[in-house]
Amino acid sequence: MKLAARYTGKTVLAVGAHADDVELAVGGTIASLRRGGARVVMVVVSLPGDYKQRMAEAKEAASILGCELRVLMSDATRRIEDLKSYELVAMIDREVKEHQPAAMFTHGPSEFHRDHVLVHEACVSSQRLSYFDFFTYHPNFCRPVPVPFHPRAYVDITETIDTKMRAIGAHQSQFKCRGLGTEIYRDIARLNGRMVGVQYAEGLDVNRLLLA
Ligand SMILES: [Zn+2]
Repeated sequence: MKLAARYTGKTVLAVGAHADDVELAVGGTIASLRRGGARVVMVVVSLPGDYKQRMAEAKEAASILGCELRVLMSDATRRIEDLKSYELVAMIDREVKEHQPAAMFTHGPSEFHRDHVLVHEACVSSQRLSYFDFFTYHPNFCRPVPVPFHPRAYVDITETIDTKMRAIGAHQSQFKCRGLGTEIYRDIARLNGRMVGVQYAEGLDVNRLLLA
């Protein structure tokens, strides 16, 4: 059974600390969920740096992936680390209550960006509100850093790798403007694909999953 079929007609939340996190880690999965008829809401907690530019990039990427976009922090004067943990939990809780997701995809606990870990922890807390499948995704970086991550599930993204790469390309302030390439994300998808015998895949850790 394709993962997308599991969520047809249902809502999936893809939560990232910043614009680009979701695209880097699960852009292919999201594009494939959309093709399968799921409603996907990309929840971005903060837009550090040039807020207007990053908002424009996030909107473009969301439209490439075909998902809705929610940005939780309304300006760049505060960062995620400036929030009290209960404030961050309340923000994620609000999204869960409003959208009643069937699944959530978010950061895992082993990221080296502290604000990614804070978002992970708030998402873990939100699981108390209702049942939804809960997956964590590959640690993110603009410049590669070795971080432990062991996928326990893989999503075949062979049909959506190009959409993912276009969505990543929308974040010019993070890559092109810094002289950084994005091909490492194709490499990671190729490597994950080899683990399971497909051309391209995204790796997930499974935190909570109802097998019916
Ligand atoms: Zn980030």
